[in-house]
Amino acid sequence: MRTVQLFWGLVLLNVAVVWTLFFTIAPEPKHALVGVGQFLGLHAALLMILQLTLVARLPWLDRRVGMDRLTSWHRWTGFTLFWVVLLHPLFVMAGYAAVSHSSTWQQFRNLAGMLGSLVGMIALVVVVVAAAASLRSVRRRLQYETWHAVHVLLYAAVALVLVHQLFEVSAFTAAPVATAYWWALWVFALGALLVGRIAMPLWRNARHRLRVAAVVPESDDVVSVHISGRDLDRLPARAGQFFIWRFPGYARWWQANPFSLSAAPDGRTLRLTAKAVGGASAALRHVPVGSRVFAEGPYGAFTSLRRTRDKTLLVAGGVGVTPIRALLEELSGDVVVLYRVHSRADAVLLAELESLAHERGARVHLLAGRTGAGSPPFAPFAPDNLATTVPDVAERDIFVCGPPPMTEAVIRALRALKVPRSQIHAERFRLAA
Ligand SMILES: Cc1cc2nc3c(=O)[nH]c(=O)nc-3n(C[C@H](O)[C@H](O)[C@H](O)COP(=O)(O)OP(=O)(O)OC[C@H]3O[C@@H](n4cnc5c(N)ncnc54)[C@H](O)[C@@H]3O)c2cc1C
Repeated sequence: MRTVQLFWGLVLLNVAVVWTLFFTIAPEPKHALVGVGQFLGLHAALLMILQLTLVARLPWLDRRVGMDRLTSWHRWTGFTLFWVVLLHPLFVMAGYAAVSHSSTWQQFRNLAGMLGSLVGMIALVVVVVAAAASLRSVRRRLQYETWHAVHVLLYAAVALVLVHQLFEVSAFTAAPVATAYWWALWVFALGALLVGRIAMPLWRNARHRLRVAAVVPESDDVVSVHISGRDLDRLPARAGQFFIWRFPGYARWWQANPFSLSAAPDGRTLRLTAKAVGGASAALRHVPVGSRVFAEGPYGAFTSLRRTRDKTLLVAGGVGVTPIRALLEELSGDVVVLYRVHSRADAVLLAELESLAHERGARVHLLAGRTGAGSPPFAPFAPDNLATTVPDVAERDIFVCGPPPMTEAVIRALRALKVPRSQIHAERFRLAA
């Protein structure tokens, strides 16, 4: 929690610096509307720098905040950026039109003829396209890869914004202190991105040289992939975390899918367990043993570092059992596991859960059945039923991972049972809220 406050505190501090520089150093604008436009433009640059930092996958931030939350912040910052980026030129053009007694359209044509403004306009188009592709209704219709490719274009937009700021923005060059401040922000954000997204994954993969060691079917549509590598004891992975996996040579290199570790890392092997829902996950069943694996990570804050209590309740739904199984292996103390499935046949990794629970003195409850079936209707996560199954639930940390409706039902029940939010930890298998 303190990391979240520290992070947003730093963001606000930078907003304050930008305001101070604008009101004390930046030259007087030609018109009030131009001033508003310039003010918005500086916020657009700040928001872009924030966006880069949020997607840089910095281990320090990711382990404490979690990639799902960072991506959710990234999403909302993105929509804010969209509006700011749209309003910035409108105000500037309206201001110049008022000064020169011409039309806004004329100003648009004038600005489009200047390189610094033109690159800003191209960046604006890219931001608008990326924001449109991120609308839920649009995104649902797009393939993940298409949506991702549109997002990759944003890196070009970032470069264009930097050029635009260098050529066009007087607040950038008004005083050495302003220039130094803006360069420091850009170097930090671009450096974080290069380190987190490129240098660190390349270095880790060169060091560990991951390969498929075994492929083990767990059911008709679920498969486990065991991965071996060098010096895996030096990989700072924890139970509950995930990697973004690629199988170059076997699958197309741009196909990358997030899967959680389904066993606690033991320093010798890693294991993922995947349910076939689309092309990439279904193809895992046929990955040849010995194939090279490229993994980005470990990521995620769904780990025992989040614990605030001695006792734990682990709640798994369907293939959401993967990080829960790994956590059970790592956790000590009083642990209860609830595993929700439609039928016993769907309960992959159940034998492992039961055997681990037996070793550790934990209890596993298999909750099999259709919600609402029977009389009284089967509703294992109704508050009363949950309190009956786990009477001391309010004294436990709860880790939940399952389909979104189940996860939300569990969280609602926990809140109804007055479990503090700080004790509830969810992995939604989704990178943005
Ligand atoms: C943090 C996290 C951990 C996960 N852990 C597991 C696990 O342990 N076991 C398991 O079976 N599933 C897990 N998933 C879900 C798994 O990533 C998807 O089911 C898988 O990527 C589907 O890919 P596909 O190409 O087979 O299907 P598609 O039909 O291409 O995709 C199905 C869904 O997965 C999403 N998806 C596809 N590729 C990606 C990607 N690169 N990044 C984010 N979302 C993507 C798509 O948006 C779509 O909603 C996890 C997801 C996340 C975000």
